Amino acid sequence: MGNIYTLGIDIGSTSSKCVMMKNGKEIIGKSLVDVGAGTSGPKRAIEKVLADVGMEIEDVSFILATGYGRKSIKIAHAEMSELSCHAKGAYFLNPEVRTIIDIGGQDAKVMKVGHSGMLINFVMNDKCAAGTGRFLDVMSRVLEVKVEDFEKMTKQSTNIVNISSTCTVFAESEVISQLANDAGIADIIGGICRSVANKVGSMAKRMGLENEVVMTGGVALNGGVVKALEDELKLKIHTSPLAQYNGAIGAAINGYHKYLKSK
Ligand code: ADP
Repeated sequence: MGNIYTLGIDIGSTSSKCVMMKNGKEIIGKSLVDVGAGTSGPKRAIEKVLADVGMEIEDVSFILATGYGRKSIKIAHAEMSELSCHAKGAYFLNPEVRTIIDIGGQDAKVMKVGHSGMLINFVMNDKCAAGTGRFLDVMSRVLEVKVEDFEKMTKQSTNIVNISSTCTVFAESEVISQLANDAGIADIIGGICRSVANKVGSMAKRMGLENEVVMTGGVALNGGVVKALEDELKLKIHTSPLAQYNGAIGAAINGYHKYLKSK
């Protein structure tokens, strides 16, 4: 049998990610477009990954879609919930994983996984923007500081500002009034990261934490939030530069297994 190529497509609320895998084991290409469900993002991400690996869609044995916008991917052979894809993806990136904390653009989940990356249990917040990437993106706009720079800023913080509102809209007003009162931007960003960590941390504690703990989703790239969560939970959190692709990686692996089963 020749090589089997599978495409994992993860359409989130904020971004569209694709991962091409060879034989369910090796990532040979990936793409990310920073708009998600209901936009041109999914189509552009698929075109990008195919161009990246120099393949046509017909060369792909199996396409599996996941994420919030998965139902809109008509070319997919199957779709699967992001929970099982995240579990598989995190296990691929770190086989020691037992707890996954995933913070995306619009939701946050904590998942418990077994020895082979099987999903055992989860808790999720998809009702409230606080404790998600959306909260950070709103604050980023108000403060005119990119989320990419939050980590650098939190390192300069000396006196973290307490953000007491748990609602994003009220927290935004609170940040604006802190700015008017001349609070330092680095200290406000420290408070924003801590606020996300408090919210997601209490969810994680409810689930129960088992090492190794891995953080996935785009917010795993925000070192300010990762550090605040480590402080909140008092444990080491592992991340990967591929954290935002985690769901798409899992989708490509699950697609590989589905393809083998169909033969
Ligand atoms: P979704 O799957 O819901 O579309 P993602 O997992 O792609 O969401 O995460 C999107 C979030 O990740 C954004 O809201 C943003 O706050 C954060 N993010 C993305 N890239 C970076 C980065 N380079 N540094 C810090 N934060 C980032």
